[in-house]
Amino acid sequence: MKTPGKLAGKIVLITGSAAGIGRAASLLFAREGAAVAAVDCDPERNAELVEEIRSQGGDAEALTADVSSPNDVERVVQQAISRWKRIDILFNNAGIVTGGKIHTLAEEEWDRAFAINVKSMFLFSRAIVPVFLQQGGGVILNTASTSALRVVADRALYSATKGAVFSLTKSMALDYAGENIRVNCLCPGTVDTPSLRARLSAKGNAEEMRKQFIARQPLRRLGTSEEIAQAALYLVSDEASFVTGSAFQIDGGMSL
Ligand code: NAD
Repeated sequence: MKTPGKLAGKIVLITGSAAGIGRAASLLFAREGAAVAAVDCDPERNAELVEEIRSQGGDAEALTADVSSPNDVERVVQQAISRWKRIDILFNNAGIVTGGKIHTLAEEEWDRAFAINVKSMFLFSRAIVPVFLQQGGGVILNTASTSALRVVADRALYSATKGAVFSLTKSMALDYAGENIRVNCLCPGTVDTPSLRARLSAKGNAEEMRKQFIARQPLRRLGTSEEIAQAALYLVSDEASFVTGSAFQIDGGMSL
């Protein structure tokens, strides 16, 4: 007899679904029985993800949006609700890394990083919390970073955005604890994703950079998207029913 998945019957909206951590989480959540509203700004790769989920017998829809656009966010949330009539889990995962010391950054880079990494979480939460309140509860998971807890060189802007995600998570967890809405964040260390590989190649000395990234993780290797997805699965599932306001470190010991 096939056991029901950990997310059987749940509707999950995941941002940044087309690559890396969001892609791995979309595939895992679908295997665990969730219907996935996959939100990304890359329609081709997002369509491939949805095709893969459907080919495995799962249920998913590709929704194209820039997560920092209020109009796009309202539209895709409405599309998910019209399709499934409810949303149980919001996984705010999309994010970008902007490097450089503060005096080298353009104002546009600052605004863009905060818009994609932080404002997007406000926009999706603002659109979906009323749905949770009406339904009698829900779950929000935000992707922060170990950079919210321990800083590294040349990442002041990125760390500032992830510190904001950390505080937003805790504040929302407190505000909605009485409404049966749990809010947590993930704090991954360095994870081998397409964005990481692109950052390594951009430096020209990818192998040397990779060695440096590995050296700062006490477990002496990079994480995988699948490992982060497993932590995400726990936090959004009913197994974590007593967990709210936590910043879950999954970083090979990097924040020690
Ligand atoms: P990735 O670049 O591999 O994938 C990110 C996805 O988000 C892509 O599909 C991209 O198209 C999408 N995206 C980017 N900007 C978007 C926008 N404005 N609107 C809609 N979609 C958008 O990234 P990843 O490494 O899997 O990172 C996912 C999350 O994990 C991010 O929040 C990142 O900050 C965080 N994180 C990553 C690492 C790491 O080492 N990879 C470590 C800690 C935290």
